Amino acid sequence: MALLAESDRLAQTPRSLIAKCCRSVIEDIRRSLLNDDSNFDSDALREEAILERIHDAIHDASRPNLRSVVNGTGIVVHTNLGRSLLSEDAIAAVSQASRRYSNLEFNLETGRRGIRYAAIEAVLREISGAEAGMAVNNNAAAVLLCLDTLAKGREVVVSRGELVEIGGSFRIPDVMAKSGAALKEVGTTNRTHPRDYENAIGPDTGLLMKVHSSNFSVVGFTASVSLKALAEIARKHRLPVMEDLGSGSFIDLSDYGMIKEPTVQESVAAGADVVTFSGDKLLGGPQAGLIVGKKAIIAEIQKNPLTRAFRIDKMTLAALEQTLREYRDPRQALTRIPTLRMLTCPVSEIDAKAADCLRAIRNIASSSLDIQKIDLISRIGGGALPLQELQSKGLTFRIAGMSANAIERAMRRFSPPVIGRIEKDLFILDFRTIHTDDIPVIGKAVAHILENRPS
Ligand SMILES: *Cc1c(COP(=O)(O)O)cnc(C)c1O
Repeated sequence: MALLAESDRLAQTPRSLIAKCCRSVIEDIRRSLLNDDSNFDSDALREEAILERIHDAIHDASRPNLRSVVNGTGIVVHTNLGRSLLSEDAIAAVSQASRRYSNLEFNLETGRRGIRYAAIEAVLREISGAEAGMAVNNNAAAVLLCLDTLAKGREVVVSRGELVEIGGSFRIPDVMAKSGAALKEVGTTNRTHPRDYENAIGPDTGLLMKVHSSNFSVVGFTASVSLKALAEIARKHRLPVMEDLGSGSFIDLSDYGMIKEPTVQESVAAGADVVTFSGDKLLGGPQAGLIVGKKAIIAEIQKNPLTRAFRIDKMTLAALEQTLREYRDPRQALTRIPTLRMLTCPVSEIDAKAADCLRAIRNIASSSLDIQKIDLISRIGGGALPLQELQSKGLTFRIAGMSANAIERAMRRFSPPVIGRIEKDLFILDFRTIHTDDIPVIGKAVAHILENRPS
């Protein structure tokens, strides 16, 4: 049992888990023997071989299922890979909030029960220009909550061009149905005019709603009603107007050469009574759904029992407060918030990372390996700016005897997993989303693949 005894980590592994792994490996071997498995190698019966398998089984069972991966897709807000990474200060705030008691719902002035949203309300007001603000679990919850509060049992007027499906089964018409509000579609897919809204308004109308087409674009013969114009119609009929912004950015990315996306401040200024947006898309914070708007509306939402069900947790709140604070100085936000830093990263910096990696891997002398640096286009992801192409740099990997799919699979199964993409039958890593610390990992993954490649 030398192999088992030498590992410190094993000493901390529950005995029951070690026993379970031993039994399952032995059971596996027994089954192969009984089945006369033709692939069975008698070498596998050597003591060291058995111990090694047990060791591997324990290693697999001990490591967390939620693991870090290297994101080589170039997609900055990649929903399947965890969307936004937090700033260092936000990470510190999460750690503090989870280690110590806090005034989460405790008013330190009065010594009485406080309001959970107090931590973010002032900074949200400050950076958005809205009268009030709060946050729930995610933007899907925020939209449902607003509809339920403002329009349950009434009609909500929405343009047919804005009946969005976000993915993961979030569809505006379905959310509407869940909230108990009735969807009143107006206009057509490509064109909606002010009179379409005007004609749809009746005694049952409860809300006018605008949904940002975050993940698609309608081009050609199109017309839509601006939020400002919609807010005027709403005021005339004494109705509230809501905008689901989706991504919700506080920084105008068109200043950095990107396509114009409405900012939260602009939506508030254009007259929206309530605006909802995600915490972990372009905002670059934790998963959350932010709601800003008129004081009376936010107060009403806070009284809705659904708010309790969608309540944001303290670690998220801590990260969110810190992320929002970074926006007080937009230049700081751009350098400190990883999502914004990666989106606005100059190509020359991405190129330097790709070149470093290329140099590191070239040390692995192998005639079977061919790596090239190439120009790439990366995408933002997360249902934001779908048409935005970002100039990027990456590496292509060719390994003799392996298809692009086989390389992709081997990279993905490495520990830690390296996730790339396949383009034109080549495995590609895009360095926009690759951190300098990831470079040695990529080198190890390549070396491992070369060693274990089918001969
Ligand atoms: C992404 C998105 C949502 C859902 O937001 P989550 O934070 O993922 O729940 C809702 N509406 C729009 C327009 C979106 O783009």
